Amino acid sequence: RLYNEVIELKGNIRVFCRCRPMNSEELSKGHSSVFEFDPSQDSELQILTTENSRKQFKFDHVFGPQDDQEAVFAETRPMVMSVLDGYNACIFAYGQTGTGKTFTMEGTLENRGVNYRTLEELFRVSEERSSLMRYEFFVSMLEVYNERIRDLLPENPNLPSKKLEVKQAAEGTQEVPGLVEAQTFSIDGVWELLQAGARNRSVGSTNANELSSRSHSLVRVTIRGENLMNGAKTRSHLWLVDLAGSERVGKIEVEGERLKESQFINRSLSALGDVIAALASKNPHSSLGIYSHLPFCNFFPFICWTLMFVQISPSSADLGETLCSLNFATRVR
Ligand code: ADP
Ligand code: MG
Repeated sequence: RLYNEVIELKGNIRVFCRCRPMNSEELSKGHSSVFEFDPSQDSELQILTTENSRKQFKFDHVFGPQDDQEAVFAETRPMVMSVLDGYNACIFAYGQTGTGKTFTMEGTLENRGVNYRTLEELFRVSEERSSLMRYEFFVSMLEVYNERIRDLLPENPNLPSKKLEVKQAAEGTQEVPGLVEAQTFSIDGVWELLQAGARNRSVGSTNANELSSRSHSLVRVTIRGENLMNGAKTRSHLWLVDLAGSERVGKIEVEGERLKESQFINRSLSALGDVIAALASKNPHSSLGIYSHLPFCNFFPFICWTLMFVQISPSSADLGETLCSLNFATRVR
């Protein structure tokens, strides 16, 4: 890609907020919902901070507990499709553990998330354009855990997955040598492929939440396009990122290995805020330079647009974390 062209397209950041439903545990403990939302005003929400005061937040779109995966993807779709025209793009899910980051990105068999729906749509549109364009799609999956990068799609399932490094390529782009790229020829089997990668994630249990995930999980879709009229070729990346829980270390009683993990996560998440801010600035390349030592942040210097899902819990018990996440997301935007 031509660097100048990429620069001109900068400043394209959107933030969607998604609030999950109250769960049975929260209801049985007598917690109440602090999330207030009028579906006819779908870009704002209010958080009940005390019995009679509210704080309002505005985002590009707000999804409430009743909004399903289809509704979420309907808003996401137009942005995602620009990758077929050669643009790089990135979608992040950010928020406290248990707020639905994995639900939004990965989803479940019955309620498939953004990752699967995106690939499904890419195949559908590429079929539609097949008389003009030829496309090839490759899926890679990796995990950033304690600032180490691990391939989630090992070539040989009997061998431990490889440690990977980010390398600066000649054109100034970032490459991950040795990363498995699984070529996918149709949507058949894509769900199984994504699930296979997801099963390889490192999951640790903490006192705060047994299922809390302490790693960042990244899906990279590489799109190669060829214009059948003039032979022009494009190559672009779409990153689909399920971040580690954003909760502060202090809240979870952690020690030893777990504490080290939390510190790494905190560092990469605060750097992430700066990275997203840098992406929004006029000259992302120079402002990102100072983060070049962080493997996680090296991936994104050539992103044309970014979508961040800020995921929140409606429960009164999570009010503090919810306000932290919403304030963070507001700053990013
Ligand atoms: P995270 O990845 O942020 O830790 P999860 O995606 O694992 O959170 O979600 C926690 C639980 O809440 C899961 O059981 C998930 O299925 C459920 N959940 C999250 N968001 C929704 C939603 N919008 N609708 C229904 N269930 C949800
Ligand atoms: Mg998760």
